[in-house]
Amino acid sequence: MSSKVIYQNYVHGKYLANGTGETFEVINPATGNVSYLVEVATESVQQAAIESAKTGFAIWSAMMPIERSRILLKAVALLREQNDDLAAGEVLDTGKPWQEASVVDIVTGADSIEFFAGLAPSIEGNQQPVGADFYYTRREPLGICAGIGAWNYPLQIACWKAAPALACGNVMIFKPSEETPRGAMRLAEIFTQAGVPDGVFNVVQGDGRVGAWLTTNEDIAKVSFTGEVGTGKKVMAAAAGSLKEVTMELGGKSPLIIFNDADVENAVSAAMLANFYTQGEVCTNGTRVFVQQDIYPRFIQRLKERTEQNIVCGDPMHPDTNFGALISRDHQQKVLDYIEIGKKEGATLLTGGTALTPDNAPNGFFVAPTVFIDCTDEMTISKEEIFGPVMSVFTFTDEDEVIERANSTHLGLAAGVFTQDITRAHRVIHQMQAGICWINAYGASPAEMPVGGYKMSGIGRENGSETLKAYTQIKAVYVGMQSLESPF
Ligand code: NAP
Repeated sequence: MSSKVIYQNYVHGKYLANGTGETFEVINPATGNVSYLVEVATESVQQAAIESAKTGFAIWSAMMPIERSRILLKAVALLREQNDDLAAGEVLDTGKPWQEASVVDIVTGADSIEFFAGLAPSIEGNQQPVGADFYYTRREPLGICAGIGAWNYPLQIACWKAAPALACGNVMIFKPSEETPRGAMRLAEIFTQAGVPDGVFNVVQGDGRVGAWLTTNEDIAKVSFTGEVGTGKKVMAAAAGSLKEVTMELGGKSPLIIFNDADVENAVSAAMLANFYTQGEVCTNGTRVFVQQDIYPRFIQRLKERTEQNIVCGDPMHPDTNFGALISRDHQQKVLDYIEIGKKEGATLLTGGTALTPDNAPNGFFVAPTVFIDCTDEMTISKEEIFGPVMSVFTFTDEDEVIERANSTHLGLAAGVFTQDITRAHRVIHQMQAGICWINAYGASPAEMPVGGYKMSGIGRENGSETLKAYTQIKAVYVGMQSLESPF
């Protein structure tokens, strides 16, 4: 019998036993050890989650938006109060550095809930005269929404999905990744503590099979999914069976374009942020770094120096660590395999390229920050999302050429441009086939700014006021003001 803590599914404001005792293990990526166990959402839990969500919806959707807003703002305050404890949980689950999780993951999750709580009372319809009659519209919630999350920002993803859904009067059944189930449970506890009615945010645990159940259940009106393109296609196909609405936040292979007139240190900072933050496990990563020829030698020199001197890899909880462990042994191997493919296909390793065994975390799943130069657009590492700390650097000569090369991918999540030329900056960004773009910046994603992908990187947006439309449906009401004319 294991002495590890066993978590249950969170349904109707409390933890609920699954009846069978079937569990899965959660591994700490920095040690390789089992941290805790979680019960799988069996059929009885799934049924309970749906019934509870129906009850929760009846109460939550009938509340005044400003009441919902007040309750959500209490949850925001609790998230901020418990920041350090919540961030430590994220570090233990994901392997990302405490340096990041303590100032980004919970903060940006809370910001999103605060943003949508603020918007909730402003959701309104319109009215228009039609002769002597008129019609008006109401923006009504969709009902039960499912959220399915990836493992790289577990609590933040749960917040980003719950925030607009709940603000609009919907309820959510959330399934976190099996690799990082803790953050969503903590969020559910906080919602309950804040006064969110039971059933408004339920958490079901398990692997893709539990996710697949959410995508086919006929009581669920919408699925908001974050994950790989391949899984996204399956989710969307399954959701089509009951014509659910979908939001798809998928993968990327984003370009970062650095022109000759860019500030070299800023450009190197951007390339490192866009490839080594959260040890490279960020969907918007600028993994294809295009550098114009004149600036290339200096850029490469500084990139190598700063990568080799400034990255501190090790125990993610250590305050000095700025580069953590990859999510799993399998994922570490997948990233190392891509590095081998890069070498075989003729790219040159500028730095990195190996697994790491830091003294204070020798059994963790680390891969060195890796930079390939002499890359060509046809190489596998230039085309496929690696989702690890592997940067590919390319050179280019002119603007039209780099725009074409940057866009020649079926993905379109993000793009960045570094230049001092204001007209070129906007001209180039306007031609990028990508949903999230940065000029002389990379990675910042405030709650006010919509995020989502072009092409196969996604459908719909998260954050930003646009997202309210994705969690409401319009009801049009025609009002007759006179005697009805009828031929009958
Ligand atoms: P994934 O393998 O696609 O899994 C995502 C979620 O889907 C997990 O909870 C997974 O469960 C679940 N799932 C698996 N099969 C399913 C099915 N048939 N039906 C329903 N759900 C299913 O992605 P990941 O490896 O966790 O995350 C990495 C990917 O996420 C990368 O491609 C990254 O770019 C992308 N991402 C995108 C964004 C964005 O905003 N665009 C943000 C973060 C990450 P289990 O894992 O428990 O099996």
